[in-house]
Amino acid sequence: MRKCKLCGKLHTDLPQYCDCGGDEFEEVAVKEEKVSQVETFKNVLSWVIFAVCIILSVLVLFVW
Ligand SMILES: [Zn+2]
Repeated sequence: MRKCKLCGKLHTDLPQYCDCGGDEFEEVAVKEEKVSQVETFKNVLSWVIFAVCIILSVLVLFVW
């Protein structure tokens, strides 16, 4: 995988030029996808914690 430095488009083949005309690419390792999956998991986890906090605060409001 190569990523255009100009527009950030990903290319699975190895083109000389990108669609945007850029000719500078950087190699994108496959492991980056795993990192992004971990980031997604962290995002979901933070939303779950956020939801639990909201539910707890509502419960506190009703109890007090
Ligand atoms: Zn490009």
